[in-house]
Amino acid sequence: MIFESHAHYDDEAFDSDRSELLSQCQNQGIEYIVNVSASLGSVKSTLALAEEYPFIYAAVGIHPDEVGELNEENFAWLKEQCRHPKTVAAGEIGLDYYWDKENHETQKYWFRRQMDLAKELELPIIVHSREACADTLEEIKKAHTPKLKGVIHCFSYAPETAREYLEMGYYIGVGGVVTFKNAKKLKEVVKMLPPERILLETDCPYLAPVPNRGKRNSSLNLPYVAEAVAELKGMETEEVIRITNENARKLYFQGREL
Ligand SMILES: [Zn+2]
Repeated sequence: MIFESHAHYDDEAFDSDRSELLSQCQNQGIEYIVNVSASLGSVKSTLALAEEYPFIYAAVGIHPDEVGELNEENFAWLKEQCRHPKTVAAGEIGLDYYWDKENHETQKYWFRRQMDLAKELELPIIVHSREACADTLEEIKKAHTPKLKGVIHCFSYAPETAREYLEMGYYIGVGGVVTFKNAKKLKEVVKMLPPERILLETDCPYLAPVPNRGKRNSSLNLPYVAEAVAELKGMETEEVIRITNENARKLYFQGREL
């Protein structure tokens, strides 16, 4: 059974067939889904999904592109949503210098605040980092405590950077990009990653793997990702699915009773 560690099923791309698709996921080997929020609005829609579907859990956080909407008042509200019984992570949070929608200091400020929140509430973090390799690593190192755990989602940096995160106890999120022919760097990373530190993710509706590249993505495509990882690691696909499921349970459920 597959653990989908990062999806956006509240996205409007799923408006026409969301409930059919989610029941299909459940019938086709997707055991759990963590739906990840990115804005204040998507925190609400993510929690609504988690309340409606027993197999969906929520990550609550504000994406670096959206931190401009944060203030003390709604940050207090955000904290309350982190206490929801189905919230299993703070995310997605981080730095994005590719879209560069907010200035770097603003992004860093709210990244720190959300990491502090995660520490206080003992939630793992889901980190989004795009073209912000050095600054993300620096912020995470500064915030690091042995208790703060997390995943670097849709990892796009070099093996040396992955090694630094592994040393701090982080997991690495691997999605559809690993099936792309030109994804040499990510394939190198996957080769060096210990299997017990990999999480499978789609980031759907984005980043569909080959052979569905360019189409709307969904968790139904995760077997292609597991297959690509298995090939790079010289493992059986089933073993990759089993180990990554265990990894995600460890990180998100932290041994608690569901
Ligand atoms: Zn995402």
